[in-house]
Amino acid sequence: MIAKVEPLTPARSLRGPFDYRLAGALEDVGVGSMLVVPFGRRRLLGVVVDVTAESELPSERLAEPIAALEADVPQSLVELGLWVAREYVSTPARGLALVLPPGTGTGVGRPLRPKRSLRASITPAGEAALREGTRMGARQRGALEALAAAPLGAAALARRTGCTHSTLRSLERRGLLRLESAADAPRRVVVERVGAESGAVRLTADQRAAFEAIRARLGVAGPPLLLHGVTGSGKTEVYLRSAAAALERGRSAIVLVPEIALTPQTAGRFVERFGELVAVMHSRLSQRERYNEWWRMRRGEARLCVGPRSAVFAPFDDLGLIIVDEEHDGSYKQEGDPRYDARTVAERRAADEGAVLVAGSATPRPESMLRCERISLPSRVDGRRLPPVELVGMAGTAGPLHEETRRALDEVRRREEKAIVLLNRRGWSNFLSCRSCARVWECPNCDVTLVLHRGLDEMACHHCGHREPVPYVCPDCGSVSVARHGAGTEQLERELEELVSPLPVFRLDSDAAAAAGVATVLRRFDEAPAGVLVGTQMVAKGHDFPDVTLGVVLDADATLRFPDFRAEERTFALVAQLAGRSGRGERGGRVIVQALDPTAEALRFAAQHDAEGFLEVELRRREALGYPPHGHLIRVVCSSVEPGPEFDAATAIRELVRASGVPALGPAPLFRRQARHRAQLVVRSPDRERAIVAVRHAVEEVAAAREHASASFAVDVDPQ
Ligand code: ADP
Ligand code: ZN
Ligand code: ZN
Repeated sequence: MIAKVEPLTPARSLRGPFDYRLAGALEDVGVGSMLVVPFGRRRLLGVVVDVTAESELPSERLAEPIAALEADVPQSLVELGLWVAREYVSTPARGLALVLPPGTGTGVGRPLRPKRSLRASITPAGEAALREGTRMGARQRGALEALAAAPLGAAALARRTGCTHSTLRSLERRGLLRLESAADAPRRVVVERVGAESGAVRLTADQRAAFEAIRARLGVAGPPLLLHGVTGSGKTEVYLRSAAAALERGRSAIVLVPEIALTPQTAGRFVERFGELVAVMHSRLSQRERYNEWWRMRRGEARLCVGPRSAVFAPFDDLGLIIVDEEHDGSYKQEGDPRYDARTVAERRAADEGAVLVAGSATPRPESMLRCERISLPSRVDGRRLPPVELVGMAGTAGPLHEETRRALDEVRRREEKAIVLLNRRGWSNFLSCRSCARVWECPNCDVTLVLHRGLDEMACHHCGHREPVPYVCPDCGSVSVARHGAGTEQLERELEELVSPLPVFRLDSDAAAAAGVATVLRRFDEAPAGVLVGTQMVAKGHDFPDVTLGVVLDADATLRFPDFRAEERTFALVAQLAGRSGRGERGGRVIVQALDPTAEALRFAAQHDAEGFLEVELRRREALGYPPHGHLIRVVCSSVEPGPEFDAATAIRELVRASGVPALGPAPLFRRQARHRAQLVVRSPDRERAIVAVRHAVEEVAAAREHASASFAVDVDPQ
């Protein structure tokens, strides 16, 4: 037999797969196995993507693999990985890396194996020795006493009792304890719970109808489903029942959620309901923990995977259901190569494997509105109305807070309630300039301003991570008059504290996230009887705090001022999502939206909780402009250390793309990033397949050309 092996090397120029002859012990390796293969004078790690009877090469010219490694990727996932590579114009190695056991896909370093460790347990003779007071050393007795309670790993026992490995061995020789080598029991993953308690509940009529509609689709082919439910309509309960229904049919399920650290509630509810059957892919898991969870799924011990975008590659071979919670969330797009969109991958995987895809949101994307069959949850579970939203204009207002907002916050203070204040500014942070010579501190690698990190006395680049201390003297003119900009945020925090004192103010931004952990801040806010949670976009994610009575959005139209075709969609979602956090409890709630221009259409629709109206207008606008979902965008960025090659490469790609009849705009220069000059091309076409193929061929050709050797390429299909 012949194995077609795709080598796991990042080089775009190496075109696999390559044929190897299977013989002897390796005769029965299948698709999804990992092999060590000879390649020229090197050894490479590769994945078997196909097994055939014949090769185009004569058998005697084929080499044999050196070894097979532990990796058993379902065939359907091997195909999915290769599809991702093609669809997102990446390399097979990068696509396959997504579906391999975590930590094995880089092609360098050793793949992880299950860790073996020693486990000790007491024998009946050991128990008798303890009872009868047999003579032994104090450490030995301590070890036996500890083991009398429960078996322990040798390392834990050593930590607890101070006994060494040789003590254990001598006890073993005396027959008082047993030492076994055991694969480490996969560690359970702890998910912190915040927010409203959830027990088993009776579904409302709407929830039941939604659940029945999803259940009816299990195992039946058809378009994806969109669960369009207003905030607080109980979507999670519908997901839970649907997952249970899939499990009852003997199928597995995947639940995609935005970053778990930001929304631990959903994952927590699944763990609560399904216990050990759930594998939670948390971003803070170590490589080892991910690896263990991967195998728990592969062995069928875990049948449900809850996690962020990469969970779409969970190694099930009996998938019945994929849920995409908060499907509008931008975190479903991967930023590095391959720049896949987990929502698109989920759709593909569901179709290939006969699973149902359910995308849920209160603010669905125009894409989903067009492609999916819609199921509605039009009202909140508790029957409460969505909170009234007031739009206030900031023209003529000094300071960050409108008079109306100040009054509302004062009321929160008097009534000892809770409020959430959302500052619509990415990176809620500020920069530095010299008052004398107007110098602005920029990153030495990227043409962007360094951002001040409050409390740390440090400036950082958000692109490359470059850091430097805050200067007190301007290096250009020697002035000590260095100004901190964006003081509005500090002023805001002071004002808030004064306004609501003595109620506490909880801050949720990237600095706070690094320091205390988002979950901790959210839990503190949840547990506090009253107070204000203030922060950026993070505070608008799907948290469920029942007792928030006021929501405030500051600078709501800031996102509208970005030159981006998704500006309207983002603005609408942000305001509607924040509005959803307010008024979930008995006291009801209200929302105030501050904007420079409160008449903007996206804001008006959001204020009326009118997602359908917004989407209708937005889809028409997109259609007129040929934007997604009516057209498809591909962005190609070429970069190089010296100026020039990036531009030449981009121009060459443009010519090749155009030659295949697909329109391409550019190249346009981008700001420098990570010390590289960059040029961008944009391809926009109604024919997705054709555009992708044209770009793929063009990039492959230019990447392989010697005259463009100093350029690098990044392709982004469906940029966000
Ligand atoms: P959504 O995700 O749609 O915003 P959630 O799933 O967070 O809404 O549900 C909002 C709240 O309503 C949660 O506290 C949840 O436990 C509760 N809930 C959901 N379904 C029911 C029900 N049928 N009866 C009572 N409470 C429910
Ligand atoms: Zn200066
Ligand atoms: Zn930088």
